[in-house]
Parts: sequence; C-alpha cells; structure tokens
Amino acid sequence: MLPDTRETNTPPKDSKQNTNHHPSIRDFRNKDVRSREKNTLLPDTCTVSRLVLWAGKTLQAHGIDSPRLDAEVILSYLLGCKRIDLYGNPDMPVENALTIRYQKAIRRRAQRVPLQYIVNHAEFMSLDFYVDERVLIPRPETELAVEAVIKRAHTLAGEDEIIIVDIGTGSGNISVALVKKLEKARIFAVDISPDALAVARINARRHGALTRITFLCGDTFQPLEGQGIESKVNVIVSNPPYISRGEFPTLQKEVRDYEPYGALVSGQDGLQIFKRIVLQANTWLKPGGFIIFEVGEKQAGEVARLLQDTGCFRKPEFIKDYQHIYRIVIAQREGNRGQNRH
Ligand code: GLN
Repeated sequence: MLPDTRETNTPPKDSKQNTNHHPSIRDFRNKDVRSREKNTLLPDTCTVSRLVLWAGKTLQAHGIDSPRLDAEVILSYLLGCKRIDLYGNPDMPVENALTIRYQKAIRRRAQRVPLQYIVNHAEFMSLDFYVDERVLIPRPETELAVEAVIKRAHTLAGEDEIIIVDIGTGSGNISVALVKKLEKARIFAVDISPDALAVARINARRHGALTRITFLCGDTFQPLEGQGIESKVNVIVSNPPYISRGEFPTLQKEVRDYEPYGALVSGQDGLQIFKRIVLQANTWLKPGGFIIFEVGEKQAGEVARLLQDTGCFRKPEFIKDYQHIYRIVIAQREGNRGQNRH
C-alpha cells in the first residue's frame, strides 16, 4: 500500500487561486513547469481514479486515440501493478513523487511519444520486450515473418543446427522469438546501430537467449565475414527499413517524430536495402535455404522481381497481413534437389 498523501495533495482548483497555504504538488515544481501547465489541472485528491480521470481527459484533449486506456496503462506501469488492479483500488491514494512522474509521462504521451516507449514495453509473439527510442517498436505483422521462418525451419528437421541470419535486428524481437520457438536455431543478429544492439542484448538476456544469438554491428552481411557461415545459412530473415523518403512525412506523428529514422527509411524508393540484401544473399545461403522478408505496402511484387532477377531463387511465395496487404515475401534458393519446390 502506498502512503496516504492526501493531506499534502490538495492542489488548488486552478493555478490562479493558489492563495491558500496548503502545500500542493505544484508548489514543489519550478516556475517553468507551472507556467507550461497553466491549463492542466491536477485532480483535487490524487487517488487512482482521479488521476486516471484527469489523464484520460488530458489525452483526449490532445486527440490521442485511446485516452483512457493509455492513462490506465501508464499508471499501472508506474505503480508496478496490473491494469485490472486499478479497478479494484480506485480510492487508493497515490504519493506525490509518483503523481509527478505520472504527470510527466502523460505529458509525453500528449506530445505523441508512443505508449510503448513510455512504459518500455512491447509484446511480440506473446513475449515481453523492452523497447525505447533506440529501436523500432515491434509490429504484429512481423509475427508473420517469424511464423514463416518457423514453418520453413521445420522442413529442415534433419539439420543439427539451423543457422539463421536476422538483418536489422532492432529490439531483437525476431531473433529472440526464434530462439524461444526453435530448439536448434543458431542466430546471427545484425544491426548497423550499436544503440539498437544494446536493446537487443537486453531482450536476449531477459529471455535467456544470449548464448544462442551472436550480435554483430555493421551493414547488412558485412559483419558476418569471418564467422564461418558462408554458404551455410539456412534462413535469412529481415524486416528492413522500407519506407521511401517521399512517404516519410506522411507517417503518423508517433512514428515520424519518435521511432528511429534509420529503422524506417530506405532511400528514394524504400527498396535500397532489399536490393543490397538480395544481391548478396546467394553467397550466404545454403542451397535450398530460404530468404524471408517483411515488405511495405505495394512492394511485394518488386521485391519478388529482384529475387527472381538474380536467377538463384525459385518462384517466391507471399503471405498477406491482417489488412490483406502482401506483407511477407519468401524465396528458396535453388540447388537442393531433394526438397519440395515452394
Ligand atoms: N527486426 C526489428 C523488427 O522487426 C527491427 C526492424 C527495423 O529496425 N527495421 O521490429
């Protein structure tokens, strides 16, 4: 139970009426903050229900899509409880320091900082991932790529070890999920951003996957040189940046202003990284190995063509996402006569 701070949490009805002598939360904050928040009223008594009500209204006023839900998620994160527990304890008083942290967090959300960065959490393949501004927030569509890898890996049951390369690992979501789902997976996770790799390591440690993932910093396949896996890779998987420069300004503010630019945008046409990966894939893939890409809307045909133009792959397959967009492209490297054609 948190200490009852109602005695000291009696802010004025509005800032101009701050003439009484009861200490209020505002009294402890600097003038800048006070003037910036002239219009943001804290609830009279900082109980769970009043805070959520205030935060919900604040977020709604800023045009946030699910204001009440976000208000609850953020408060339960700060209180270290489940969201459902808020309903059971509406009158629980919230201590000053926490109220101030809550107010700050709500202010960030009002400025469109993605909820996942505020609570440092995203769920992917039913696993909890740590996320912050250093990495792209894992998306549900990407689970389709992971499932496609798992399905193809099962056709390689005879192998002692399944070598998988994850290009642009970001938070490490794909690699960690694959370690959890595939006993024999040995993963090489590459990212050009050392910051992203730091986050990926946090997630690998969290899920006990550190020993089965080799994290490498560099551009596409370059850091794989010297790892002894040339022509031995069973699956290359990648959800690379695929937004075109022209499309970038049209993205939702949450994405555009807060997610890492380098994880989103790839050149003038959004296809730059695909082109580079496709050209080198053959060197690394074992004959009969697979390449599995997540692609942007309307890119599937172009990416399939890039693969076919190399003359090294069988006819690509596609998987549609929940919005019926062709989201995943899968191609098998030629050369393994014993395998079914895909
Ligand atoms: N692999 C991560 C993901 O799928 C990061 C992708 C990226 O940074 N483009 O979410």
